[in-house]
Amino acid sequence: MKLEPQGTDAAVCEQANAWLKSWLPPDYYDRTGEYRLDLDFRSAYQAAAFDAGWLMPGWGPELGGHSLEEESELWIKLNFARLSAPKLPNVQGPGVAAPALIKFGDESQRSHVRSVVRGDTWWCLGMSEPQAGSDLASMRTTAQSVDEGFLINGQKVWTSHARDSSHCLLFARTDRLETRHRGITAFVVPMDTPGITVRAIKKIGAGDEEFCEVFFDDALVPQGAMLGPLNGGWKVAMESLSFERDMIWIMNLVEIERALDLGSRSLAERPDAALAVELERLLADADSVWLTGLRGLGHRLTGRPDTETPILKLYSTEAAQRAFDFAARATGDSAALLGAGAPFEGEIVLGEIEGLGATIYGGTSEVQRNIIGEKLLGLPR
Ligand SMILES: Cc1cc2nc3c(=O)[nH]c(=O)nc-3n(C[C@H](O)[C@H](O)[C@H](O)COP(=O)(O)OP(=O)(O)OC[C@H]3O[C@@H](n4cnc5c(N)ncnc54)[C@H](O)[C@@H]3O)c2cc1C
Repeated sequence: MKLEPQGTDAAVCEQANAWLKSWLPPDYYDRTGEYRLDLDFRSAYQAAAFDAGWLMPGWGPELGGHSLEEESELWIKLNFARLSAPKLPNVQGPGVAAPALIKFGDESQRSHVRSVVRGDTWWCLGMSEPQAGSDLASMRTTAQSVDEGFLINGQKVWTSHARDSSHCLLFARTDRLETRHRGITAFVVPMDTPGITVRAIKKIGAGDEEFCEVFFDDALVPQGAMLGPLNGGWKVAMESLSFERDMIWIMNLVEIERALDLGSRSLAERPDAALAVELERLLADADSVWLTGLRGLGHRLTGRPDTETPILKLYSTEAAQRAFDFAARATGDSAALLGAGAPFEGEIVLGEIEGLGATIYGGTSEVQRNIIGEKLLGLPR
C-alpha cells in the first residue's frame, strides 16, 4: 500500500526529495552496500542535511530544520528512509542527547546542541549496566555529592560509540536510600574526564556501531554537569528516549520493504508457492506497521494518548526479522555469503544480523509485551 502526502506536505516533500537526490553521488544506488558502511560519507551527509534544513525538519533553521509541522516532518523522514538516505553515524546524538539538552539543559549545556545535531561531535548514552538493562531503575553507578561536584563510580555497558564520543549523557544514582527510579540523576560528562576508562566490545555484524564498556573510577564532574534537577533523571531519560519514537518504526518499515524487495527478486528466479503466500502475509505486515504509525501520529495531532509506540516497536522489529528470514530462504544458501559475488552484496545476511539487535535496544520485545499487556490492555502484572 502506498499512501502519499497531500497538499503542503506533498510540496515540501518534493523539495526535500529533490535536495536528497541532488546530494547523493551518482553511483549511490549501485554501491549502497559500500556507502552504508562508510562513516565519513555518512558524517558528510549528516552535516549537509543539517545545513540544508532537512535533518530535523521540525526544528528551527539554526538546528538543522525548517520549523515544519509534525505531519510534514513525518512524511519527509519516511520519504528519506524510502530513498535509502544514509543512516546517521551517531544516531543517539541528534535522536536522544540533543532533545535532552534542549528540554532540560541550562544555557551552557544547550550550547552543545548544534554540534551534536550536525554530527560535529558524537555523544554516547550511559544507561545500561551489567545488572541493569531492561530494569534500568536498578542501576548501581553512583554520583556522590562532594564539595567540588559529583564523584562518579560504577560501570556502564553496551555504550554505543563511547570511544568516539566527546561527551556521555550519563544516568547515575544520586540517592543511595532510594533504590528505584526516584534516586537517579542525569549528567553531561566529558569523556576525557580523568577516571573514565573505555573498552570496546567486539560484535558480530557490519561493524559500523561500536559497543563499549565504560568504567568510572572516582571520575569528578562539577556541579554544573547535572542535567535537569537532582534525582530527576528518570524524567530526562523517558522524555528524551521518546523523541525518536517515529524513527524506529520508519527505519524498520524501510528494512522490511528492502528485505521483501530482495526476497521477491529471488522468488521471481526460483518460484515457490508457499513462499509466495508468505510474501503476501509479510506485505500485509508492512502495511500494518505503516497504518499503525499513521494512527499514532493522528492520536498525537488530536491530543489523544499515543498508545502505538510500544506496539510499533514490537511489531516493526519482529516483522523486519521475519522479512529478512523470508528473503534468505527465497534466495537459498548463498544468502549467507558476504563479500564479492555474494547475492545482493551480502545485504540479506547483514540485514538478518543487524535485525537481531533491534528487538533488544530501546526496550526488548518481552518488555514491550509487558507494557502493552499492563498499560494498554490493563492486564494484571
Ligand atoms: C544495537 C544496540 C545498541 C545499544 N546501545 C546502547 C547505548 O548506546 N547505551 C546504553 O545504555 N545501552 C545500549 N544498549 C543496551 C540495551 O538498552 C539493553 O541491551 C537492553 O535494555 C536490554 O538489557 P540487557 O541486555 O541487560 O538484557 P536484560 O535486561 O538482562 O534481559 C535479558 C532477557 O530477559 C528478558 N527480560 C528482562 N526483564 C523482563 C521482564 N520484566 N519480563 C519479561 N522478560 C524480561 C529480556 O527481554 C531479555 O530477553 C544497546 C543494545 C543494542 C542491542
